[in-house]
Amino acid sequence: MSSSPAKSAPNIATDFKNKSENPRCSAAELPDEKSAATTPSMQQYFSVKADHPGCLLFYRMGDFYELFFDDAEIAAAILDIALTKRGKHGGADIPMCGVPVHAAEAYLERLIASGHKIAICEQLETPEEAKKRGHKAVMKRGVVRIVTPGTVTEETLLAPAESYHLAALMLDGQGSVALGWLELSTGRFSCLTCEAAMLAAELARITPREFLISDRDYARLRAEIWFEEWAAKATILPDLQMDPRRGEAALSQHYGLASLAGLGLDSKALLGVTGALVHYLAQTQLAALPRLETPRLETMQDYLRMDAATRRNLELTSTLTGERRGSLLATLDHTVTAAGARLLCQWLHAPLTRKPAILARQEGVAWLLDHTRTHEKIRAALKMMGDAERVISRLALGRGGPRDLLTLRHTLAGYRTLREEWLQAGHPASAIPPLLVASLEALCGHETLADTLARALKADVPHLARDGNFVAAGFRADLDEYRALRDESKRVLMVMEQGLKTSTGIPSLKIKYNQVLGYFIEITPLHEKKIPSEFIHRQSLAGALRYSTPELNDTARHIDEAADRALKLELLVYEDLVKSVLAQAEPLLAAARAVAVIDVLAGLAECAAAGGWVLPTLTEDTRFEVKAGRHPVVEAALRRHHREFIANDCTLNEDARLWLITGPNMGGKSTFLRQQALILMLAQIGSFVPAAAATIGLADRLFCRVGASDDLGRGQSTFMVEMVETAAILNQATPRSLVIMDEIGRGTATYDGVSIAWAVAEHLHEVTRCRALFATHYHELTDLAESLPALRNYHAAVKEYQGQVVFLHELRAGAADKSYGIHVAALAGLPTPVLTRARQLLNMLEAEHHLGRKNPAQPMLPFAAAGADTPPDPHAARYRALAAALAAIDTDHTTPREALDILHALKSQATSGTPEA
Ligand code: ATP
Repeated sequence: MSSSPAKSAPNIATDFKNKSENPRCSAAELPDEKSAATTPSMQQYFSVKADHPGCLLFYRMGDFYELFFDDAEIAAAILDIALTKRGKHGGADIPMCGVPVHAAEAYLERLIASGHKIAICEQLETPEEAKKRGHKAVMKRGVVRIVTPGTVTEETLLAPAESYHLAALMLDGQGSVALGWLELSTGRFSCLTCEAAMLAAELARITPREFLISDRDYARLRAEIWFEEWAAKATILPDLQMDPRRGEAALSQHYGLASLAGLGLDSKALLGVTGALVHYLAQTQLAALPRLETPRLETMQDYLRMDAATRRNLELTSTLTGERRGSLLATLDHTVTAAGARLLCQWLHAPLTRKPAILARQEGVAWLLDHTRTHEKIRAALKMMGDAERVISRLALGRGGPRDLLTLRHTLAGYRTLREEWLQAGHPASAIPPLLVASLEALCGHETLADTLARALKADVPHLARDGNFVAAGFRADLDEYRALRDESKRVLMVMEQGLKTSTGIPSLKIKYNQVLGYFIEITPLHEKKIPSEFIHRQSLAGALRYSTPELNDTARHIDEAADRALKLELLVYEDLVKSVLAQAEPLLAAARAVAVIDVLAGLAECAAAGGWVLPTLTEDTRFEVKAGRHPVVEAALRRHHREFIANDCTLNEDARLWLITGPNMGGKSTFLRQQALILMLAQIGSFVPAAAATIGLADRLFCRVGASDDLGRGQSTFMVEMVETAAILNQATPRSLVIMDEIGRGTATYDGVSIAWAVAEHLHEVTRCRALFATHYHELTDLAESLPALRNYHAAVKEYQGQVVFLHELRAGAADKSYGIHVAALAGLPTPVLTRARQLLNMLEAEHHLGRKNPAQPMLPFAAAGADTPPDPHAARYRALAAALAAIDTDHTTPREALDILHALKSQATSGTPEA
């Protein structure tokens, strides 16, 4: 945030002085020199602080939240506000800083962004009430809420299109982990159990802002390299707080359930994490009871699994440099509501694997695409709607206001419009896809509330209920009466002002109002002599004299009384309206979620129409056949520069599982590779895809390893990162997976690199047997086509024209003849002498390579010896058969006895025909 609120906010030191004018603040409460360490007010501060370790304490004093001691130093540095001092403790100055209550949210945002938790300590009584308990009584204070990165709900602290998850995790010590996560701002709550190896991937999918973990599990995970990027988001709890029995009790109490059996939480660890989350909310939200749905148990197998590196490399929701612009989400997001944008982001992070669920979405998108007029009208109605999910959560937590009710009113009006448009279009219900029908049905039944809100609220309402003036005229007769009285008195004031101007002969005389003096008469000192004797002096300022009169005081009292009563009635109306909303929270939330679904489907239809995308055919086999496919993000970027994207085919199937792609730098290999991964993802979220035709066999996992990047911050070199990601692929990919490997083995010595790339390609082909696209600059690997029957060579084509290279961005069958690296270096502007020398060296190396091939004892280029001059491996066919036999074993349904038999058979197969056997 460049325009820091601290800078535009009033100067803290000055405001502190001003606070003595504020009747709610008692300066006597602040620690001072005389009272030293033991004043009751300091004892109160220390006791509150001690109860909230690990939190910055926002200590309410009048119109300010003050921070003291270390808290003040930390906050002043982060917020860039003045650090002052107030009184002494133990002989030393007490550091202090403060933020005005009315601007606190902006400051909170920055503290939370820096990973802090803030305990909000409020005054729980007025100074007058405190005085009744004794002259020196300290005003009661208490923490009403702890704001943490995972529990924010304020509209200003939440980006509309982003989710704010609070998670909890627990390792069971036997290779599994229970994960729970919820969003306080929408009430959504989910959980799952997965293998511990998938934890990093799941955290990358959920991207919690904060997560709860026991100190035991934290100690276990701290050693993991991947955990470092998450460590700062951890809230470490004593083991006991994650205890399943305690969790069970917390869940039973929160949901008022005698038995938790209906929730289906089938492990103790799941009870531990979900219970810990509910308990943590109770601890942080204190008085306010959050509205939380019951935890929904997810099944890992329902989602396309992607690890953190794959999500990052595919630039799903942000680019490698962390920006949304340039990501798949930015290209795909044609939603018009905030909830729709959030849902699309969730869909992208969790494509589906079950065909019926994907088809349900596909049908919705296709129907909207075919019914352009209805589609347009739906989108227009969607634009009327606000973020009902977040509104309801804020109202439930007692943090809402009239604007939230107004948002709901517009949203409900939007539901009505949307349904009416649909009905008017006259589509037979049986022809509308079930997902759309279900979503439309969720929008029914809110008419009474919609009418009440429409009658109750003005068109323009304040943010806070206590500011009043939001209830529409005619909604309550008694309110109208008080308002008339108040307004009548105001008219009387105007008449009075006019009369005083005439009687005093001071034309500039004015009747004004401020919080401290109430109503007063103001004149300039120039006219002091004309002041009648009955005027009562109130205040003298440099440029103004202020007075009152008994008549003015009388009228002011009338106005105040009428305004007070009007405000009280408005607050009653507000409470009633909130109650009616919360009484319908469930159906309202169901409607809000249905709207998000319609919005995403309509957005995908919009995207498909704009890009000329096609509906993919989904299959349960392992085909991946894309005709004239395009990369959605690169295509959009090129289009902005009026350049054409060259479409390419990609056909992977049982006979051609592995494409080995060579070709020049800048030839379009990376684009082609990522394009296929994105097409698969789009197909599995239920979207159309950028191609002329596509048949996609649903994948269970998607891996994408690209290029080389250092992760020195985490103590990992380029090569280490590459190998960690490669290991994950080789260990986890299954025959149903799609693997994208863009360059491997480039971060080490050439021989090592080629050897690793070679072995990885062989493993993918022989053991993993998944669909894979493998781009490489090691041309030696193209020889693999001779020994690996399901491997196909493809290359990115170029044309040489008058010594220049033209990249055609076309994928053609066969291996590339050369790399054109020096051509690309020339394009990049390397100095001519360097290029000349490089060409000389290349010629030399190539010449030696030919010699090397004739003389295997001195290979000059990697694998010269392993290429044409090496006799084919006599055991290759047997190894392939062995690998196939291994892959065919169904380990989940094999008894120990059968396993032994299989092992015996494999051993004989492996050794038969060898000299040792
Ligand atoms: P390197 O080996 O250096 O990583 P590469 O072969 O992977 O290069 P890409 O990075 O995929 O090449 O593509 C280089 C540029 O070519 C892209 O930034 C894009 O602008 C353009 N390009 C790639 N594919 C196409 C295409 N099919 N149609 C049009 N332009 C393309």
